[in-house]
Amino acid sequence: MGIDLSKFPIIDDHCHPFVQSRESKTFDNCFTLSLIPPKSRNTRNTLLFRMARNELIKHYNLDSTITDDELIKIRNEKYRTNPKAYVDKMFKEVNFESFLVDYGFPVMGERLSKQELDWFHETADSVNVRRIHRVESTFHPLFEEKIGFDELESKYLAVLREEVEKKGTIAFKTVIAYHTGLNIQKTSKKQASQSYQQFIADPTNRKAEKQVRDYLVLLAFELCLEYDIPIQMHSGAGDAPMIDVKQSSPLLMHTILSDPHYQNVKIIFVHTAYPFVEEAGYLVNQYPNLYLDLSSMIPFSSIGIYPKLRQILEMAPFTKVLYGSDGFTIPEISWLGARLIKSVLAKVLEDLIGEGIIDESYAYQVASMILSENARSLYTKNWEFSMNQPSIITQSEF
Ligand SMILES: [Zn+2]
Repeated sequence: MGIDLSKFPIIDDHCHPFVQSRESKTFDNCFTLSLIPPKSRNTRNTLLFRMARNELIKHYNLDSTITDDELIKIRNEKYRTNPKAYVDKMFKEVNFESFLVDYGFPVMGERLSKQELDWFHETADSVNVRRIHRVESTFHPLFEEKIGFDELESKYLAVLREEVEKKGTIAFKTVIAYHTGLNIQKTSKKQASQSYQQFIADPTNRKAEKQVRDYLVLLAFELCLEYDIPIQMHSGAGDAPMIDVKQSSPLLMHTILSDPHYQNVKIIFVHTAYPFVEEAGYLVNQYPNLYLDLSSMIPFSSIGIYPKLRQILEMAPFTKVLYGSDGFTIPEISWLGARLIKSVLAKVLEDLIGEGIIDESYAYQVASMILSENARSLYTKNWEFSMNQPSIITQSEF
């Protein structure tokens, strides 16, 4: 008998708001992470798009010979006519329980307005939306103000504290990998303050910038220790051409990972550190405080999901691997990711049973851990707070 995960609840531990009014690219061109304008001719001819197409045809109950243009037309009509019903049906189908949402999005261009966020929260209200705070979204605007370093530090810390104490943030996130890379080093406040003056005077001074960013990110680590909340670290691939992927290998974190002071900071490498998947699985095995989120690899690596999942599980404990999609702009990415993890994880587990390594009952325990349990036990602080279901928060706390 095959493993069937279709009814399992699922938590997406790393995604972003989808907003219909921000869907500026054609639907097919949403299936790429690149910020360089893609070409439909290329994106439609990727395995990822073929997989999305197959799943949509099943979901809409269409004939498999339908053309791409017809399929996209049907999709756009359905979504535009009644976005909430469209999203509800998709999310119910995969039994989504919660989205852990990084609101520091989009990376470039205008940030989402309150109206746009309200639209997202209402449209996704079949799913409990929880809040992740990206620390750069606090200190980047402070850089623009060109205030003194002491003021910057105190304003930054005040916002992070407010996020945890008042706004229900369950985890911080940093995208330092995009800017100065994961080779983070401890910097004294005196040094960081001097570097800050140099960086403000000359924003192209990369050395000074790195010291400032390293210092500020490590301040967030201190708050993670104080509040016992995890931090998601962007690792591996991101939006081309903004990221220099070779600076985003989790192996670059050695100085911090090996420092006993930080060994109680729960660090989640997000995006599976793709393509550094094997390295990430190894690190998660070695350091008790490290976790691995599968977003971006799922769904974007298409047929790579099966071999890469096996590669991660060569060494990573099942208790430290979490499902995520990195869904953005359109609701279909999270949905497709959920469809794919359920079918591919089932296949990986079936094969492990067939190889005589695990039995069926244990396989179901593993599936439950990766799909939802690990997220519930890792993100404990503020778990009761929901961004779109206020009834679950207690008035006295928030
Ligand atoms: Zn993301």
